[in-house]
Amino acid sequence: MNVEKLITIKEAKEYDSKDEFQPYRNEFFLQPGKIYMDGNSLGLMSKQAEVKVDELMDSWKQLAIQGWTNGKYPWFYLPEKLSAMCAPLIGAESEEVSICGSTTSNIHQVVSTFYKPNGKKTKILADELTFPSDIYALQSQIKLQGYDPDEHLIQVKSRDGRMIEEDDIIAAMTDDIALIFLPTVLYRSGQLLDIERLTKEAHKRGIPIGFDACHSIGAVPHRFSEWEVDFAVWCNYKYLNGGPGSVAGLYVNKKHFGITPGLAGWYSSKKDKQFDMSHTLDVEESAGAFQVGTSHVLSLAPIIASLELFAEAEIERVRQKSLHITRFMLQLIEQELDGLGYSIGNPMEDERRGGHVCLEHDEAVRICKALVAENIIPDNRPPNIIRLAPIAFYTSYEEVFTTVQILKRIVIEKQYEQYGKERNVVS
Ligand SMILES: *Cc1c(COP(=O)(O)O)cnc(C)c1O
Repeated sequence: MNVEKLITIKEAKEYDSKDEFQPYRNEFFLQPGKIYMDGNSLGLMSKQAEVKVDELMDSWKQLAIQGWTNGKYPWFYLPEKLSAMCAPLIGAESEEVSICGSTTSNIHQVVSTFYKPNGKKTKILADELTFPSDIYALQSQIKLQGYDPDEHLIQVKSRDGRMIEEDDIIAAMTDDIALIFLPTVLYRSGQLLDIERLTKEAHKRGIPIGFDACHSIGAVPHRFSEWEVDFAVWCNYKYLNGGPGSVAGLYVNKKHFGITPGLAGWYSSKKDKQFDMSHTLDVEESAGAFQVGTSHVLSLAPIIASLELFAEAEIERVRQKSLHITRFMLQLIEQELDGLGYSIGNPMEDERRGGHVCLEHDEAVRICKALVAENIIPDNRPPNIIRLAPIAFYTSYEEVFTTVQILKRIVIEKQYEQYGKERNVVS
């Protein structure tokens, strides 16, 4: 990237004044005096989220058991209502989406459904940079099938410790692979994989393929249905602002409808048959079949608010803003932080990056502590990564400008030296 003329605070303010997302800042509880750069880990609470939680609490108070079928949001149908609202974010039909479980429990659900080792095909293909919980889930699913994960979990290697090359993934799609499970966006470097290409290549070889979209949902649009991705999972508490531990989501392509879920429960049933209380499961012919038990109704409440915001703002526009403001941050980093030991760890091309900036520094742990002391909230991933996510809905260009200035000062004035090198329990 060539910085031709110096970016100044004036330019940041100009972008803010022209920003059509500016009114949305008011819809969130920004923390007074703080710059929040961690929306990729836990999105901020929206004002409407609070309203929806109150409404659902009130429905419990007023309606008790009758809340399942009465009130503004009858609880029994709330997951399906949210699935329809979420579908545009991942490019799927409403029936292909289910809002249920947690990311990790949903990985167990889809992998136990789609990992069917048979003959020579016994292995799962993943990558070596993915999130640990995904790997633990894959290892335990392999063990449950009676195989040794050391031999049956293949993790594509990174050439540079940051990215995974699609060519390397495709080369690893050998005829002993029974299932492929990959992230859409890598949680550390923010690399966005070419989902369409990988899905095509997997299907050419007759291998089902699924994705973990935790780091892309709400930041990047998807076309899972059109690309015929077999399944996907995601959480709703990062870019979707659903609150700590909010209910997660999954997608299953409609060509798989009718399949019995690996982990069945009474919520896997056709809804009109569920209360027949039969011991023979009549499985729902939609992604709803992948629910297990009773919905976490109160934890669904903030997601109503979030998806209403996305419906209004539209994911394509969110992506445009996100690309613009992250590019602005990357340009500032190149302009201001040169020679201070920082390097950019995310891809620079728009079509290869997600919603966060991956800044690397040998002193990342201590720099993050110094940032927090300056009221800037980043997150830190070992060994040397400072993740910074300017969020389309609520981060201003001026805040991005200030953040980069403070990153500069922390190193120039060696402010970070006041802090210990040990990582915090939650970082
Ligand atoms: C955030 C995240 C998770 C978290 O899983 P939980 O079940 O919600 O704790 C898992 N995988 C990836 C890739 C993530 O980004």
